[in-house]
Amino acid sequence: MNIRIGNGYDIHRLVEGRPLILAGIEIEHTLGLLGHSDADVLTHAIMDAMLGALSLGDIGLYFPPSDQQWAGADSLMLLQQVHQMISERGWRIGNIDSVVVAERPKLKPHIAAMRDRLAQVLKIAPEQIGIKATTNEKLGPVGREEGIAAYAVTLLER
Ligand code: MG
Repeated sequence: MNIRIGNGYDIHRLVEGRPLILAGIEIEHTLGLLGHSDADVLTHAIMDAMLGALSLGDIGLYFPPSDQQWAGADSLMLLQQVHQMISERGWRIGNIDSVVVAERPKLKPHIAAMRDRLAQVLKIAPEQIGIKATTNEKLGPVGREEGIAAYAVTLLER
């Protein structure tokens, strides 16, 4: 088998006094995401998709919130480690597609920078990374701006 597919999901709570970081890009907003690491919800969903593609479990297994080592961690560094895990096993990324679900702020102006940043870390072309943004039409916790969620799918090849 020379291709594998994986999917990932994550959600983090929005609170005051935290930066909003998505795909390693700090986005100006009145609220930020709460979490043990930098709470980069999109990067977390992508890491889980990559791990899932190879049935390697999830990020909680490798970077447990109980471990002080990961407090405030830059999620792009964790992404680099997950990328190394798949590379060591002989796999490379075919493409990634993702969706960020956020009522606010408008993410469209930031998407190019987010793709570029992830592409740089994963050593692939920005064209191999899809990032879409949608609102939740004011429905549920994401619609009430209590949090931001992200979904990701990845195809690995060798
Ligand atoms: Mg997370």
